[in-house]
Amino acid sequence: MNSLNQPISSVRRGAVSPRVLLAVFATTIASLAFAPVGAPADSAPGTPDEAIAALMDGNKRFVKEKSASQKIEIDRAELAAGQAPFAAIIRCADSRVAPEICFDQPLGRLFVCAVAGNIATLEGIASLEYGVAVLGTKLIVVMGHSECGAVGAAIAHRGDTSVLPGSLPQLIDQMVSPCALAVDPTDPDALAKATECNANIGVSELLKRSTVIKDAVAKGKLKVIAGVQDLASGVFTITKR
Ligand SMILES: [Zn+2]
Repeated sequence: MNSLNQPISSVRRGAVSPRVLLAVFATTIASLAFAPVGAPADSAPGTPDEAIAALMDGNKRFVKEKSASQKIEIDRAELAAGQAPFAAIIRCADSRVAPEICFDQPLGRLFVCAVAGNIATLEGIASLEYGVAVLGTKLIVVMGHSECGAVGAAIAHRGDTSVLPGSLPQLIDQMVSPCALAVDPTDPDALAKATECNANIGVSELLKRSTVIKDAVAKGKLKVIAGVQDLASGVFTITKR
């Protein structure tokens, strides 16, 4: 341990001059003043629980407007050489939802799949399997968000989605049953309840439809959780783990 890391109280009186003590004190204060506030760790989390903690710490920085990841100097050559994202996210395509920003993580840390309504599509599941089996991802997050238009459409058209244009009925149908049908459309909290339901069901779907994900969870190498980000506050709340 060098002298700068020693608590001031542990520096023996008489062993050093007051002038040196003052210099140590000033340097310590200066280093504290310029230290990043809770910046992302240099090394990626090694376990599922560490991955959860890293995301939640990042979300706290984001909410407090103390984000640090975008200020980290990027080594583009290292980024281009490979990736080992510690967490994978299924997010909604909504323009207000961005996991790297919400969880304050630099490039290379998050493996993100986007689809309206953050549902587990076949392609999304295959992408997550690549993240788990090849890249060593420790955590999967099904990330819902407040004011989700896709979930809102599922509630509004729960009686008949065929009036929706293009391929939207096939997408929205996956949220109608069971989440949109489980809420009372006149309930002011219907959207919030269906959104949480939809995120939580994403966890069950991944475990049910992917042996790669299920096996990794059984071995303790992976956790799959769900949560909802409140757009107004920025706060991400875990709803299922
Ligand atoms: Zn959405």
